[in-house]
Amino acid sequence: MLKEAVSEMNSFPDPALGEPFLLTPGPLTTAYEVKEAMLKDWGSWDGDFRAITASIRQKLLQLADAEDEFVCVPMQGSGTFSVEAMLGTFLSWNTKALVLLNGAYGKRIVETLEYLGRDYVAIDKGDYLPPRGEEVEAAIEADPSITHVIVVHVETSSGILNPIEEIAEVTERLGRTMLIDSMSAFGAMPIDFKKVRFDALVSSANKCIEGVPGFGFVLARREALEACDGNSHSLSLDIYKQWIHMEKTGQWRFTPPTHTVTAFLTALELYEQEGGVEGRYNRYRTNRDTLVSGMRALGFETLLDDRWLSPIIVTFFCPADPSFDFNRFYEGMKDRGFIIYPGKLTVVDSFRVGCIGRMDNDIMERVVEAARATLADMGVENAAPPALALEERAKLLNK
Ligand SMILES: *Cc1c(COP(=O)(O)O)cnc(C)c1O
Repeated sequence: MLKEAVSEMNSFPDPALGEPFLLTPGPLTTAYEVKEAMLKDWGSWDGDFRAITASIRQKLLQLADAEDEFVCVPMQGSGTFSVEAMLGTFLSWNTKALVLLNGAYGKRIVETLEYLGRDYVAIDKGDYLPPRGEEVEAAIEADPSITHVIVVHVETSSGILNPIEEIAEVTERLGRTMLIDSMSAFGAMPIDFKKVRFDALVSSANKCIEGVPGFGFVLARREALEACDGNSHSLSLDIYKQWIHMEKTGQWRFTPPTHTVTAFLTALELYEQEGGVEGRYNRYRTNRDTLVSGMRALGFETLLDDRWLSPIIVTFFCPADPSFDFNRFYEGMKDRGFIIYPGKLTVVDSFRVGCIGRMDNDIMERVVEAARATLADMGVENAAPPALALEERAKLLNK
């Protein structure tokens, strides 16, 4: 890609260059500057690279307005490595977690706890519904040995925005603490670190900060992390040890993804230029609104009620029309420059469209136009879902 060819709209990629937009929740479409930042090799022990690490750790705390009570510990690997590291470091043989799940990422947390041999109970809300404060209260009253509540902020498998403030309020009132998988939400969904009480939150480089994949990070309450020495079952995924080592040496404990880290610093600078959480939230929300209203006009229906629709990713039901074929739809969208994402629902067919990444309203209008043209190619006249999908949704919503 030539720099001169980059759309002047401050580094938004130009679809005319033939690089498809990733309408997926990470890896996602990144700015030219972020890619360009990777054109240099770094020594991980060198002072210049250590300064970059220090800078991203500080900027992440600043953007959360959490510098007083929290510390930032980056961890190599994809987001799941950081979730596993957080769980292994903050939970131990004498804790019991209450996992709130409503999709694939909640299930992954349960699976991780099985591997780690940490005690837990779970509330499973299926694919469509948010866990609520009163359910958490009842679960803790029924089982007072619960010490931690674990929640996914935006469950990316459906796009549902879970009510973490409500859950944190109950958890704190009952004297328990919370761990948050905010992978696909942090940086775009506002969260008040001074009001919402939790011990640790995890996210990664390739979600709402719009970096490339390669590491995640845990924002941990200093006081809580200080008590976690010796908890971890793992040599490399020990957040406490990584933290102590970074504080002492300024270096990562084992080889860091140097190019990803430098690209992430550039992504953070662009993030600040855009106006931080507010700027990003507004752009993503506009992306979602344009997408949802345009797709609804074609007959598509969203899985979720407007109230629970996050500005991160939206799930649509596949149309009932027998001429609709998801694979052809996918290829048609790809030919027009957009990579969409298959659905993850168990009962009915669906697909997902991400609203995050280096894209704006103009791009989303083109996404809707591409969907219209692809449906026309397939001979689908109306994108309305099968009655079964709507019945299923209504049943669950009324429960
Ligand atoms: C992306 C994501 C993860 C991590 O997935 P990786 O593929 O390991 O990066 C975890 N939780 C949620 C909610 C996510 O959106």
